[in-house]
Amino acid sequence: MRLCKKLQGRQLLKQEIPSSLWKQLKKEHTVKKVNAMTSRKKDIICRRCGHINSKASCQIETGFYCEYCLNMGRVTSNDYLYRIPKIHQEKAKKTRCFWQGKLTTQQARISQEIVDSYHHKRHHFVHAVTGAGKTEMLFPLIQQVLTDGKVIGIATPRIDVCLELYPRMEAAFQDTEINLLYGHSSQTYNGASFIICTTHQLMRFYHYFDVLVIDEADAFPYVYSDELQYAAKQALEKKGCFVFLTATSNQGLEKYPNTQKSILARRFHGKDLPVPTTVYCRHLAINLRQGKLPKKMLIEIEESQQSYILFFPDIALMSIVYPIIKETCRKKRVAMVHASSKDREKVVKQMREGEIDLLLSTTILERGVTFKNISVMVVCADHRVYNRASLVQIAGRVGRNLDYPTGKVIFLHEGKNQAIISAIKEIKYMNKEANK
Ligand SMILES: [Zn+2]
Repeated sequence: MRLCKKLQGRQLLKQEIPSSLWKQLKKEHTVKKVNAMTSRKKDIICRRCGHINSKASCQIETGFYCEYCLNMGRVTSNDYLYRIPKIHQEKAKKTRCFWQGKLTTQQARISQEIVDSYHHKRHHFVHAVTGAGKTEMLFPLIQQVLTDGKVIGIATPRIDVCLELYPRMEAAFQDTEINLLYGHSSQTYNGASFIICTTHQLMRFYHYFDVLVIDEADAFPYVYSDELQYAAKQALEKKGCFVFLTATSNQGLEKYPNTQKSILARRFHGKDLPVPTTVYCRHLAINLRQGKLPKKMLIEIEESQQSYILFFPDIALMSIVYPIIKETCRKKRVAMVHASSKDREKVVKQMREGEIDLLLSTTILERGVTFKNISVMVVCADHRVYNRASLVQIAGRVGRNLDYPTGKVIFLHEGKNQAIISAIKEIKYMNKEANK
């Protein structure tokens, strides 16, 4: 009996399997049924995410559950995971890429290096600066993998990145089926050979991807999560390859075994990365919380000819500052956005279309989004929510467009910390590399 394509490569709990397919699945001897959790002395380990739970903290009436992956549907020690094998595919007909652009010489070199790694069954780490054009560099790899009748996935820790990637991939591979999966996605898994998803969704795959691209691999939560990295490994075919894409250096990923490395220090338009300017403001956080905005900040945003994104470390602080900026900068169109804003997508769209002059945002817009003609200001850049990678990413929002390749990056702070210093150091280093 041939298993339904809609379940191939999956690792699911019984309740995640449609009842219409359950009967058929039960008879299928190639489906592997394993205990969802394994016990080890005082701990109980989840086999979906690899999280080690302490039995004392995750007990329920009938056993134990996994705390880490609870939001993906509860896994308990009474459950089983059903691992459904992949249907073997013959070599497919040549996959067409409809992208009309041309890679720069450097993009083409890296693109070829990634394809070479795939042929040699190696992993690949790409450090390409913000605005280098990473997505386009993947097109030849995607085309090759699909033409070989194999499966490719692009997973990223950020939903916004998925949402921006999907239409671009749809346009480039118009006659290829692409499946977009994230928490509240309108699509369900359909067994496609090309998947775009969040890294959380990888928990529902088992040895499915021949090539798995982890885009923004240096982003929270993936970079610090043993569980998401475990899920990614489990989702990959035994002899499959990872392609890690980052815009900042990352020691952990660069040292992954059997991994080749490529660096692209130059942006696609050839101009330098904007180097942040640091501006010291005494008692910045306290003053802001009392509704007092530094003069330097107000003058800068009022006089700017470009749109500004002002990054804030938290919603509470942003909500205090928002009405004051609205009142002070009356000639400017001001808006605010954070993770749970109801009109989040609408505001981002307005910003993209140049209908907002000043956008206040939390770190949700730190990466994956592209606006045309902007400057950015990080308010309280010395706050602990920012690290080197996130500051480099925020600076990288500026000057991404061929027609507007420059803009200001300003870090307001009350003391330069290690994150600020090393972010600026890395940006300067990459500019130097690009101009060698
Ligand atoms: Zn778990």
